[in-house]
Amino acid sequence: MGTEKRIYFFEEGSKDMKDLLGGKGANLAEMTRLGLPVPPGFTITTKVCKEYLESGSLPKGLEEEIREAMAELEKRIGRKFGDAEKPLLVSVRSGAPISMPGMMDTVLNLGLNDESVEGLAQESGNPTFAYDSYRRFIQMFSDVVQGLDLHEFEKILKQVKKEEGVQYDKDLSADALKRLVDEYKKLYEKLKREPFLQDPWEQLFATVEAVFRSWNNERAIEYRKHEGIPDDLGTAVNVQVMVFGNLGENSATGVAFTRNPSSGEKMLYGEFLPQAQGEDVVAGIRTPLPVDELKKLMPDAHAKLVRTAELLEKHYRDMQDIEFTIMDGKFYILQTRSGKRTGVAAVKIAHDMVQEGLITKEEAIMRLTARDIENCLFPTILWIDEKKARYYGIDPEKLEQYLAEGKSISEIIQLERPTSTIAPLMGTGLAAGPGAATGIAVFESKKAAEMARNQNLPIILIRPETSPDDFPGMAASQGILTLRGGATSHAAIVSRQIGKTCIVGASDKSGLKIKKKDGTYLLQSAGGKYEVKEGDWITLDGYNGRVFPLRLPIVRRTELPSELNTILEWADSFAKLYVRANADKPSDTELALRFGAKGIGLARTEHQFFETERQPIMKKMIMARTTEERKKYLDKLLKFQIEDFKGLFKVLKEYPAIIRLIDPPLHEFLPREIELLEKIYKENLGPESEEYQVLQRVRELQEANPMLGLRGVRLGLLYPEIIEMQVRAIIIAAIEVQKEERFKVKPEIMIPLVISAEEFREARKIVDETARQIFQETGDTVEYKVGTMIEVPRAALVAGKIAAGEEGAEFFSFGTNDLHQMTLGFSRDDVGKFLPLYLDKKLLPVDPFVGIDEEGVGRLMKICVKEGRAARSDISIGICGEAGGNPQAIDFCHRIGLDYVSASPYRVPVARLAAAQARLRHSG
Ligand code: PEP
Ligand code: MG
Repeated sequence: MGTEKRIYFFEEGSKDMKDLLGGKGANLAEMTRLGLPVPPGFTITTKVCKEYLESGSLPKGLEEEIREAMAELEKRIGRKFGDAEKPLLVSVRSGAPISMPGMMDTVLNLGLNDESVEGLAQESGNPTFAYDSYRRFIQMFSDVVQGLDLHEFEKILKQVKKEEGVQYDKDLSADALKRLVDEYKKLYEKLKREPFLQDPWEQLFATVEAVFRSWNNERAIEYRKHEGIPDDLGTAVNVQVMVFGNLGENSATGVAFTRNPSSGEKMLYGEFLPQAQGEDVVAGIRTPLPVDELKKLMPDAHAKLVRTAELLEKHYRDMQDIEFTIMDGKFYILQTRSGKRTGVAAVKIAHDMVQEGLITKEEAIMRLTARDIENCLFPTILWIDEKKARYYGIDPEKLEQYLAEGKSISEIIQLERPTSTIAPLMGTGLAAGPGAATGIAVFESKKAAEMARNQNLPIILIRPETSPDDFPGMAASQGILTLRGGATSHAAIVSRQIGKTCIVGASDKSGLKIKKKDGTYLLQSAGGKYEVKEGDWITLDGYNGRVFPLRLPIVRRTELPSELNTILEWADSFAKLYVRANADKPSDTELALRFGAKGIGLARTEHQFFETERQPIMKKMIMARTTEERKKYLDKLLKFQIEDFKGLFKVLKEYPAIIRLIDPPLHEFLPREIELLEKIYKENLGPESEEYQVLQRVRELQEANPMLGLRGVRLGLLYPEIIEMQVRAIIIAAIEVQKEERFKVKPEIMIPLVISAEEFREARKIVDETARQIFQETGDTVEYKVGTMIEVPRAALVAGKIAAGEEGAEFFSFGTNDLHQMTLGFSRDDVGKFLPLYLDKKLLPVDPFVGIDEEGVGRLMKICVKEGRAARSDISIGICGEAGGNPQAIDFCHRIGLDYVSASPYRVPVARLAAAQARLRHSG
């Protein structure tokens, strides 16, 4: 009976065995092979974890195998596990195939008991070290293995430090530590009703089991959900000979990145703590020293660290996150993995590594994610002078409203003429996560998650430090502020990874404090000048670590970092799909072009009628009872529309613009019935009043399901004068701009919601006839195209007919929003009631309003592309629904051979990257 190998010594594995050995185990193996100073050890595989999770107990025979492996370790280093004089101590650490930093458990100094601690004290001549190690072990074992309340242990530690009059753990004397160990053991016995476990073997087996179990702890499950990591991978367990960073003055433990994980700059970036162990640096207990200081304190170890970092980065061809320990001046490496980084850093690192010849352009593109790109477009405060914290004093809500209306910053500043104001600075910390964030101050993670969920409020989470338990609160917040900890603390790492603005160590850096007053938490500046109570607004500037006690106006970035520009240019050169933008205004269009769009894929003309000055005319046009009357108001709208289109054409120059004729049902431009009734009732208005008459019209226009009603091309066929007016505006604008600017304008007129070839031709006749008339009137011409949206399933099925012949459609654009609605029979306006259940239970493969349902809607799209192209070989086909900016959907669009995707301006860069990735992924 062949038994499967369950334990691998480090020298038996390699970096390619992550699935079996976990990331940590595989990399320890790789480093051992490279001859780096890795303390010896072995890995128990993820397969064993899976068996354990299924059966609930360690597999038969495993304990025996562990004993044998330990015997081998004993032999190699000449110490004995459980020995009273020269004990072998080990660390037991988790390590999943995909890195889940800090989510699962670790126990250090395992093998210590009342006897061996004495042996260790004697042997090292350093009882402080021995007892420090023992108290750490008791604490970790109680927490990780026995699930006892860590806070109770912390309380005792605090008490002993207070009695001894010391601030830091490292300053406790041997006697104080001995007392601490006694207190810990007493507490353990009280809580567990049995003495602290003395048998090292039992300690070891129980810990291995606990590490396996930690795969399913709450925070790990939550983390996997957030990061989309499968639940069935399991974790490996690494058992490794201990080296001690807490042995004395000449010992330390640290973490370093081979490049700056926040900015991507090429430098050794890290921190260390003298006389410390394991998690101390990450846990934010003391604020660590920057790695450069190590050069002065322990120059040999520093030189080794620098060399090791260089070697590892070259070997792995990626930025590495390294854990090291220095024991009595000797350098050991305990871990290496690909470092988590901000999107800004990811982009810079990918770019620089191509320039350095370390990776190819293709690799650089494949390494980036949509999140990285979005991260580069992170928000900033609306500064006038960033250094002096001088900002535009505009009401943040008003600003948001303007931005939602599509106004550009310069337009808003012109309109509002905001005052120049200096933001009061309440403190600073270390800038650890990108962007700027403003929100309501909340001091507890659970509350933050609840408030974000239930009240939909932007939250800033403020904590002394964070631990993995804070993850749900962090994920729900806009920004995170901690008082303690450095650039590699838990808060910093996690927020960088999930793309949250984060400032750490604000107490160490500028004396910010958390206090409780009358039952409410508050954040107080040094000296007490500023206070932010729970529920108050606070703003974090994650670019330089500043904290402001008020709500500041925030805007998104409108320039791409130059490295991203370069990478996206490479991406364009690989991609088959090109990218257009959904934009209706010159300012949006300008932004989209700056982000790399090559034209407009959808201008929703109805958005142009929402402008304040046009609304009354639009209303009158809808109220008109006769064609003549309607034309009167359409003539007025024509002037505005000409200006609208001229604005777009001027920005676009020779890039094409798909302009969609008006689509939504007319009642959307009138007030709601209930509002009119309220007014009529309150003001006692009679039948002659305007409100009364509008009410009549609203009732006439009312439809049971307006999304399937009088809209799109149907509306245009019923009132051809509307099509005429819009086409007139488009053609006149094109002719005028062409004359004024001397470039070739490329209007593409799109007819919405078409269902049959006959219907399309009927509408096209109006378009062509209108254009012909203008050419005759003006003596000028312009080239234009006429096409249709594919939004109704029937249109996809008869696409061949719609595209065929002279009068057929010259282009198709998939309106996947409507196409999903109509194919699935869902309404996008009230789908929220049941869609979450459908997604949760996997009754649907994707959210149909985010990506593309490939199996259903995708099949219609394929038919449409095939038959459309067969009928008209040069037809241009793209997508302009929301899915046009979604990477999964873009991959599908690539596979079915579309020409372009069209996305909102801020998603254009993501779409460019996704288009290149799709090509690289599928080109064999
Ligand atoms: C669509 O239906 O996908 C589309 C782009 O049109 P709208 O969202 O304006 O209905
Ligand atoms: Mg639509």
